[in-house]
Amino acid sequence: MRRLCIYCGSSLGVRPEYSVVAENLGFEMAKRNIDLVYGGASIGIMGIIANAVLAHGGKVIGVIPQVLVNREVAHNQLTELKMVKSMHQRKALMAELSDGFIALPGGLGTLEELFETLTWAQLGLHQKPCGLLNVNDYYTALISFLNQSVIEGFVSERHQSLLMIGSDSAALLDQLTGYQAPLLEHNFDLENT
Ligand code: AMP
Repeated sequence: MRRLCIYCGSSLGVRPEYSVVAENLGFEMAKRNIDLVYGGASIGIMGIIANAVLAHGGKVIGVIPQVLVNREVAHNQLTELKMVKSMHQRKALMAELSDGFIALPGGLGTLEELFETLTWAQLGLHQKPCGLLNVNDYYTALISFLNQSVIEGFVSERHQSLLMIGSDSAALLDQLTGYQAPLLEHNFDLENT
């Protein structure tokens, strides 16, 4: 694993635990020589993880659409900041640059990014590992809902298992590193979809 994409909040959340775990994940990534790919902001949990990776000598690539440069206060100390034209380009480039994905606590943007990545995995558009860091039970209700989706027959167990869940940064990174993608029915060419 050379580069990991982190989806996370542009807000800090109300509990210090969210920032503490982001700092810890950033430290673990730098220690393992895994570069960070993320949305390029300096605010919220996004800024915390970028600063943590940089502070421990790691590399950070930010990908931000021009329209968000002011709103999300683009980080001006990154190893590289890539400017794109749209939100769709941002997600596509973040995915292309990365060997795997982890979602930390975040809001609607984080959820949207995580679920798009999972649905691409479900379709066989990529074979990269997807993880969810469940800090302070923030995602426990979402995890229950996914179980409910399986029980009700809308998500298969196989597709549910595409999401690796953990509450410890180092253990989740270990899981992602050892991931072997299942052979799914469809394998499309991402370039041609
Ligand atoms: P949030 O989790 O809502 O705080 O947002 C986290 C990050 O996701 C921010 O950088 C948002 O700009 C970004 N984001 C929100 N919606 C989208 C989207 N549809 N596509 C790409 N990025 C998004």
